[in-house]
Amino acid sequence: MSKNLSKRIKSLPVSATLAMAAKARELRENGTDIIGLSLGEPDFNTPDFIKNAAIQAVEENYNSYTPVDGYADLKKSICNKFKRDNQLEYNPNQIVVSTGAKQSIANAVQVLVNPGDDVLLVAPYWVSYSAIVTLAEGNPIEIRSDISSDFKITPSQLENSITKKTKLVIINSPNNPSGSVYSEQEYIALSKILEKYPNIYILSDEIYEHINYGIPHFSFARISSMYERTITVNGLAKAFAMTGWRIGYIGAPSWIAKACTKMQGQITSGTNCIAQRAAIAALDAPVEKIQYMVEEFKSRRKLIIELLSEIKGFKLNEPKGAFYVFPDISYFFGKELNGNLINNASDFAIYLLENAHVATVTGDAFGSPKNIRISYAASNENIINAVKRIKKAIEHV
Ligand code: GLU
Repeated sequence: MSKNLSKRIKSLPVSATLAMAAKARELRENGTDIIGLSLGEPDFNTPDFIKNAAIQAVEENYNSYTPVDGYADLKKSICNKFKRDNQLEYNPNQIVVSTGAKQSIANAVQVLVNPGDDVLLVAPYWVSYSAIVTLAEGNPIEIRSDISSDFKITPSQLENSITKKTKLVIINSPNNPSGSVYSEQEYIALSKILEKYPNIYILSDEIYEHINYGIPHFSFARISSMYERTITVNGLAKAFAMTGWRIGYIGAPSWIAKACTKMQGQITSGTNCIAQRAAIAALDAPVEKIQYMVEEFKSRRKLIIELLSEIKGFKLNEPKGAFYVFPDISYFFGKELNGNLINNASDFAIYLLENAHVATVTGDAFGSPKNIRISYAASNENIINAVKRIKKAIEHV
């Protein structure tokens, strides 16, 4: 009967990150000892001060529909956060709270992109960007970068990708999957190109803002010529270990925010009331309160880089943020591993899953066919064992 499904859903790829996590879960349930390094999910508990705010909200009988764009006091907390952390001035009518940053991105793309519009994606990019653009009947256009440029693009690459059809550029720093962080100067250089094209909008995905190990985070909307054309996306999942709470938000020109509210008014009616109350506690707290998680990720980054660097055929750079490494493993292409011919990164990721029992994600899904993504949002023990297993599964090459 699935032949009766719409063309839209039939042509939509499944999310590679979620698919790999589901496959790992399934194998685990069947008794295979899988180490899951596929999903970008902090392995910490949500901090107690946030959980307590949620418990209190339940007890205070927060159970009704919320305003579609989020509680007024939450939107105020978001404005304060933007000012405190990003030196960005937004009014509450420029804020929309959604069911995760993923919905924030989907809303923005749906309200800006017409069928046939080009949307520029800086590859490697997060898996869902291109599917979200395709759902809006836009054309995802990749601007490729690789390990030799630290996975960043140059202003001339950006300019060469712009056509009359370009409507939106999606940028993401710190980047998922590469961990690259654009400096203020690098973003200013890109903005100089965009200044020449006033009809192009920019979606700046800043969900990994706080998972940053050095280069100060710089919000693209800080550039005054870009402010009126930029949608700043953020959320609570990564920095506050709140992936399942599903809270994302945007700061945007008020006409875009209003359109996003209209969109989600027809789709979700706004997001969960308890999670919104908890989000106020999270955002009002000083950022130092979550620094212990960032420190832990930093030491795991060191560990995984040291361990993976010892493996022949893994070409690595040092990610400056997020919690992924994105090695180039093209050395293995055309080689046989235990009788399995590796033609591409997907073959390699599947090989690791089936033979090393380690779940990673193929770079194909991120627009980087030579790489795989490994999440180090995992315990030291899991990281050490995973790398040992990977080494063993490929040592004969
Ligand atoms: N953003 C995370 C990741 O890239 C969570 C899974 C997803 O929504 O893609 O792994």
